[in-house]
Parts: sequence; C-alpha cells; structure tokens
Amino acid sequence: MPEFFEPRDRATLVSGVRVIDIAADVDRSADVLLAPGRITLDPRAADVPDDALRIDGAGLWALPGLIDLQVHFRQPGFEHKEDIASGSRAALAGGVTTVVVMPNTKPTLDTAEAVAFQGAEAQRVHGVRVLVAAAATEGIAGKRLTDHAALQGAGAVAVTDDGYPLSDDALMRASLEQCAKLDLLFMQHAEDMSLSHGEPMTRGATSEALGVSGQPADAEGAMVERDVALVGETGARYHVLHLSTARSLRAVRAAKAKGLAVTCEASPHHLLLTDEACAGGDTHFKMNPPLRSEADRQVLLAGIADRSIDAVATDHAPHSAEEKARGFREAPFGVIGLETAFAALLSLVEQGVIDDRRAAELMTAGPAHVLRRADLGSIARPGSVADLCLVDPARRFTVSEQTLFGRSKNSAFLGREMPGRVVATFVDGRLRYRV
Ligand SMILES: [Zn+2]
Repeated sequence: MPEFFEPRDRATLVSGVRVIDIAADVDRSADVLLAPGRITLDPRAADVPDDALRIDGAGLWALPGLIDLQVHFRQPGFEHKEDIASGSRAALAGGVTTVVVMPNTKPTLDTAEAVAFQGAEAQRVHGVRVLVAAAATEGIAGKRLTDHAALQGAGAVAVTDDGYPLSDDALMRASLEQCAKLDLLFMQHAEDMSLSHGEPMTRGATSEALGVSGQPADAEGAMVERDVALVGETGARYHVLHLSTARSLRAVRAAKAKGLAVTCEASPHHLLLTDEACAGGDTHFKMNPPLRSEADRQVLLAGIADRSIDAVATDHAPHSAEEKARGFREAPFGVIGLETAFAALLSLVEQGVIDDRRAAELMTAGPAHVLRRADLGSIARPGSVADLCLVDPARRFTVSEQTLFGRSKNSAFLGREMPGRVVATFVDGRLRYRV
C-alpha cells in the first residue's frame, strides 16, 4: 500500500540502483545515501548510519526529484478542488518534488504577499517545493501590469496570466521589457481568444461530427508567432506553456535558431491523446489547449525526441466530480496529471518515441534549464538539492482512483494501463512516499 510520511531524520541507503542524472552526465549503477539535506553517491560504509532504512535498488532507477513547470494547487480560493497539502501528495506519488504553481487562484497571485504565502504554506504543510509563477497583470485581467520586480523580490520565478494570454500587444511588450531587465521568465498560455472564442474542443472532423463549432488550432500558433516577434525586440526569456500544435512548434524552433531565449513544454495528454477522444463527450478529455489532431500530436512527438520541446509539464488542473459532470460544453477545462506524468513518458519509451534517458531529462534537467536553476533537476551536480525519486520501470499499473492522491480525480488516463511506477520519493534527503 502506498504510504506518505512526515519528514523524518532517518537516513536511507538505496543499494545497486541505476542513477540517471542527465544534468551531471551520470548513468550508472551506484549506492545512494540520503540523509537530511544531503545525498551521496557510493558512500563509504563508515558513513552509513546503523539505523539507516535500506532499500534494494536492483531493477530500479534513481532520478533527481522530478520538476513540473505547470500545476494548479487552487489555494487560495478553490480548496474544494485541491490545496497545497493535497496537491503535494499527488506530486510525491508521481515522483515530483518541485512544482511551479500558476497564479489563477482567488485572489490571484498578483502581490508580493500572495507569492510569499505559497512558499510559507508549502513549508507549513510539509509539501513539495513550490515555486510561483505570479500574475503578469493585476487580477489576471489583462489591463494593468503587476509590479514584476516586487513579485520577483517575493520569490516569483516567472510571470504569467495562465488561463489567459496577454493579448494586448503594447502591454505584452511592456511586460517583456520588465522581464528582460529583471531576468525574469515570462510564461505564456498562448491562445488568440478572438479566434478560439472559448470553444470546448479543437475544430476538426470530430467537432463537426458532434455539431460543435470548435476552436481553430491556429489560435495558439498565431499568438506564439506574435510573442516571438516581441521577444526578438525585447530580449526577454519566454516560455510557451502546454504547447500543442505544429504551427506553435515551428515558431519556437525558428526562435531558437535565431538564438532567442525561447523555451516550451508539452503536456502528457497532448502527447498521448487526440481530439478523437472527445467523440464520446467525456469531460475528462476537455482541457485548454484542447486535444489536437493526430498530425499535431506527431509533430509534438518529434519535438520531444529532437529536443525542440524542452520539458514535459502536466498543467495539473483539479476539478471536482460535480464540476466535471456538467456536460462537455459547460464543464471546466482541465485534467490532473501529477501522478501519471512520468509513466506517460515511459509509455512513449515503450512505443520507441524516446529513450529512457530522454524521458528522465524531460522532467529533470530540461525544466531546470527552463528555470535556469542549477540546484534543481540533478543530484550529482555540486549544490544540488537532495531530492530523489525511485522508479520501478517493470511495474505496470492501471490508473484508478486508488492510484490518485490529490483531492480531485479528473484524469484523462483513468482505466489506462501504464508502464513504470514511482515507488519512493525523497525531498531534502527525507523519505516522503513509498509504495
Ligand atoms: Zn493554460
């Protein structure tokens, strides 16, 4: 039975485990000693405390604690969907030890106090590491910019109006200018809302069959193209959240080729599913951006393989069962993803899309690079945090409410068999989850 633990000071020795640490260029069998605030590869026997918990690492992989660049923990304001404590349990069960939370809470994370609260609350509930992407505009209303410097001073690692794009060209330019000056990351939910009109799915054969008008896939790429032009003018660091179309990826590739500081992430559901899944009207396939065509999905798969996509992030978006039961048009956008993200990547390994090292990189070194955080996404790099997860690549599981530990169960993968289960997670050298 999976178990969660409060942080304890007992050390753990994992013996004979395959350590995959892409940032430090390590992929070999080792013994790993975890102790509060510390992680040591191949410790001397004298350094292992007598009372250390011992785990046989044969057949297991040890990865740096996974990083999820986009989650919604819903606190404050929507605690019936999730809070920092319940979201942290979902994260630990997925091997995720660092998350970037989005600012579309109630009130929104648009002040220094609201940003500081997230970190303090995570500490109070012994949650995972919570980094904040603060609001780019006051109240995420797209009218007046927030004080980016003050938000950064309170700990924000990025600004975004996620859920909404920053549509106004002049405002977006002004935000990017501030970001460039502060070396602060801008994360964009790219959607031209004059094209998408909030439609619940992508326009295509499936939407036509259902008699839904649908939003054109171009609503995303058009916004990414505008943004890349503004990034070229301002020199800001810019990241595309949940990139989902071929046109968007083309714009990102072109920006990278020019040497712009442009990065992007893709979400497991866009990598594994297409809009055909919406045919039955199941709201567990309703998210924004919506599921796309098979042609778009194939381009994303090529993008994670050839590294033009930097990271995989879940857009973990909990909603209650009642909210998701409102029918395809009325139900809120969004699905959860923390517990299943790495298994989803291992599905792509199984399908031959990427290898196991690339799967690890997409949730460790990749997102750490997006955040420019040398202390995250590695265990062997000097100055690394002591976060680790153990994966049993041979252990298959079927996604069910029993394998989901957050407050909401709105997974797009319910009932799906997945390869590879996270069997233990450590934060700051302490065991916090074990199957
Ligand atoms: Zn979004």
